Amino acid sequence: MVPKCGGQVEQVEEVEQVEQVEEVEQVEEVQQVEEVEEVEDVEQGEQKLKMIKTEKILHLRSCRGRKLRVVREHYLRERVPCYSGACQAGCAHADGKLLPADLTHYVVPDVGVVLDYLEILELRELQGVVFTQTACQALQHSKGRRQYNRLRNLLKDPRHDCVLFANEFQEYSYCPREKGESQDTWQSRCVYSAAVWFYNHLAGLMDIVMITEDQEAVTRYSSLNSGVYVISVRDYLQNFWPELRAAHELHASVCQALQEKEGEVRERQYAEHLPPEVLEAGIKSGRYVQGTLNVSKHRAQTEASIMTEGFSNKSTDSWCVLVHGDKHRNRAVHGDVVAVELLPKSEWRGKVTALSEGQGAEPSGEDGERKPLPTGRVVGVLQRNWRDFVVTFPPRDGTQPQSRNSQRILAVPWDHRIPKIRISTQQADALQDHRVVVRIDSWESSSLYPNGHSVRVLGRSGELETEVQTILVENCIHAPPFSDAQLRELPVNSPENPWTVDPAQVAQRRDLRESHLVFSIDPQGCEDVDDTLSVRHLAGGTLLELGVHIADVTHFVSEGSLSDLEARSRATTYYLADRRYDMLPAVLSADLCSLLGGVDRYAMSVMWELDARTLAVSRVWYGRTVVRSSYQLHYELAQALLDGDEAAVPELVRLGSEEQEAKRAELVQALETLTHVSRHLRAQRDRGGALELEGLEVRAQLDEEKNITALVPRQPLEVHETVAECMIYANHWVARKIQETFPHQALLRHHPPPRQEFFLQLVDSARARGFTIDTRTNKALADSLDRAADPQDPLVNRLLRMMTTQAMSEALYCSTGAQSLDQFYHYGLALDRYTHFTSPIRRYADVVVHRLLAAAMATKRGVASGKALAGNKGLEETAQHINKKNRAAKRAQKLSTELFQCLYFKERDPQTDRRCVADAVIYSIRDDGVLAFVPEYGVKGPVHLKNREGLVVSVGPDGGCEWQSGSVRRQPDRISTTSGGGTCTFRLFDHVTEVVRLAEEAQERAARRPKLSREEREFSQSKTPNLYSLLEEVRELALTDPDMIPQVCASTA
Ligand SMILES: [Zn+2]
Repeated sequence: MVPKCGGQVEQVEEVEQVEQVEEVEQVEEVQQVEEVEEVEDVEQGEQKLKMIKTEKILHLRSCRGRKLRVVREHYLRERVPCYSGACQAGCAHADGKLLPADLTHYVVPDVGVVLDYLEILELRELQGVVFTQTACQALQHSKGRRQYNRLRNLLKDPRHDCVLFANEFQEYSYCPREKGESQDTWQSRCVYSAAVWFYNHLAGLMDIVMITEDQEAVTRYSSLNSGVYVISVRDYLQNFWPELRAAHELHASVCQALQEKEGEVRERQYAEHLPPEVLEAGIKSGRYVQGTLNVSKHRAQTEASIMTEGFSNKSTDSWCVLVHGDKHRNRAVHGDVVAVELLPKSEWRGKVTALSEGQGAEPSGEDGERKPLPTGRVVGVLQRNWRDFVVTFPPRDGTQPQSRNSQRILAVPWDHRIPKIRISTQQADALQDHRVVVRIDSWESSSLYPNGHSVRVLGRSGELETEVQTILVENCIHAPPFSDAQLRELPVNSPENPWTVDPAQVAQRRDLRESHLVFSIDPQGCEDVDDTLSVRHLAGGTLLELGVHIADVTHFVSEGSLSDLEARSRATTYYLADRRYDMLPAVLSADLCSLLGGVDRYAMSVMWELDARTLAVSRVWYGRTVVRSSYQLHYELAQALLDGDEAAVPELVRLGSEEQEAKRAELVQALETLTHVSRHLRAQRDRGGALELEGLEVRAQLDEEKNITALVPRQPLEVHETVAECMIYANHWVARKIQETFPHQALLRHHPPPRQEFFLQLVDSARARGFTIDTRTNKALADSLDRAADPQDPLVNRLLRMMTTQAMSEALYCSTGAQSLDQFYHYGLALDRYTHFTSPIRRYADVVVHRLLAAAMATKRGVASGKALAGNKGLEETAQHINKKNRAAKRAQKLSTELFQCLYFKERDPQTDRRCVADAVIYSIRDDGVLAFVPEYGVKGPVHLKNREGLVVSVGPDGGCEWQSGSVRRQPDRISTTSGGGTCTFRLFDHVTEVVRLAEEAQERAARRPKLSREEREFSQSKTPNLYSLLEEVRELALTDPDMIPQVCASTA
């Protein structure tokens, strides 16, 4: 195994290969220099490199206790690159990243620091970090692959200012281990020797600071060489980064956790996990089942399941295994990949379908639980999915004596699918009612709870900023301000230095500025205009030319640049109710890439020539263009123009009346033609089975101080559909183009057909109302949904469409090489191929697709496209990453909307404010209540008909509600309560305004505190509304989202 010269990562990978083969735990490492000989000269560029061969002997012990002696050839070289911009020796740095030359010092962490404090070194603010090969290898040995990959990613990421120095391959920094020398001592000697080498190599121009938690090392080395300092992490942070609070807090918190860990011996609480190779063998033989643990939202304490991972995407290959109770869950945390052993059939359980947790601790078979499912216990964790968790510190019990210095507390995670986390802290009092970010360090079998440490404080819970930050952290959304380095990459557009189109670019592009009437239609106040349209007659009116012109983002964002990397890791712009986090810096997203009115912009265009009568496509043109949009319209204005209403077009108000009329007529004509074309396109897709689905879309209208003034359901206008249809058309044609050119490496968006069993609730609910839903094909489904309309109650159809949406699979990005041709189909849109091309400012998928389209055009012209395209594997990885981030973005948006819905109701007194009384419709029947939807506010929530004391709701003759003793009887389409006051029945699609309003009166009369549904509570927040408790309830709502049972399993992806 001869290491290649120069590459940093290769050298580490070489080590990795050995580990993969041996799967060993390293117990002792003895270093012997057997012989030193010059073995070969390797030519690299024009330099002849001298290599010296030695042998390194490792004594290793395998997991089964077998002893191994491994002799590894070890080559030393005179020249090992330093990756410093301050290098005086002309190191060959290939294309690795360089440490800046203008720093005051470089810092070299020793092995212990890398093992225990890696997360501090991960802070982007720290600069000039040199990781030694010694520390890297130690991390891999003692912390495993996940930690090791973390370090490798750090080293690869150009946004982090750190490099790897292959100190053990460097002739002069390499230290053979001496007889009898302990591993720790030898390792710290290696790291120190590397630090000294760096100082000398950079000719003393750069101070080097070695950081270590080993006091002995500080004493031994600190006064050996001037210019090479050896200090503790704490001293380092205090002296060099006094302002970097995050680092100081993290350091204190990790120290605390480490201290606690020492000397902790307790009895076993959980079964030990089996070693990885036993798990692997067991999974192969079929003894264990592998899957991702999904903890129930409704019954987080007891209920979890895994969806087994089949070998293909066919639905029949995967099935659900229940994991019941915390002993069987065996320290696995929501999202972990686990191995499960099935229990004997006699121990199988069913899922509970009641509304609330803890109701009847041991549910009797008929009432609470459904038919038994395969049930198992976790025997090992294959991959931890621990992320940053937001927790609150519990209120302190004053009577409990606590030690002064540090307290161990059980922090309560925001996501209650996550177990409580034990934290040692000195701030337990100060941080009461605060939200804090924590990380889990370990979960020993002797501990009931995982141990963790705090990372940073978000703020007091209930405050808007804290809650928004919580939503971001919980969804792993990291969107800090763009770095200076990234902004320096980008063009400038300022009054002193205005940006203009480059004549050389114009020469290469099709210039549409004079020839085409280009305009945009967006929501009001939109800054990032991705897309514009044009339409005109050709050939004396026999042809129509439709054009879709999209911001040319990839002209400004070249592959691999800092902007590109940052955009990729964000993957999308995040839209929250009151703010957004852009994928691209404003100079691009709101300016140079935005196709604003009246300015020259670069675009990527698709233009179709259509037969003016039949609208059949005769020719398609793809390519780069220069456009100048004439009108920046918003939807309401465009619709008004189409409807012939009096509406002022801002771009025309300054013109004389004659010119204004002519221009207005021209614009209206274009809008009409566009409407005509898109109706035709829509009809075409409808014939293929396109679905019209219903989501919950409610926008919070905010005033300047971010107070909600109203909750506004989205108003559908035809022009929305017109624009959408043109975009769908462009996306479809681009998908065809890139798939045909790159059959194995194009990015598509596919939408698999839903699993039939997900339609059960929809079909049953519709039947309750006398409608038949045919779900065999998308066409049959679309047609039967159209027929399932009650002229008396339009909400019925809306709810059925909502349920259809819920039953749908998720549309996903994929690489064409990873799926077969028939998998490309987009079920919802009824198109054989689809992708995203039209929003490159706010979606990274579109950026990738733009590059693919440009490469396809270059291929057609026979021009090499410069950079090689990502292969199927790389592209599929990108696709999965974007899918994950999109899910996070969606969840974050939903949570923030709910946050503001809450704020809206917080201010209202239900006694006097009519807005608190709303119409609700029952859309699902549960064992002890119903789920209802309030269309006016787009809110869904549970309505309990039975409370914790076992009392049921009874409606009196005056329409008032009371809690009385009685019973609840559930049938497929209805639920009835029977009590002294008689029987009342709630059916699917019943409107339940009264129940919601009067349950509150019942509460007052009964002078008890029955458990109210979220809505009821929301409406009854009157006396002293406390935002904190409201938020807790919103969170509950988010988690009690009424998925159908099979979906609980399906959402494990
Ligand atoms: Zn150098």
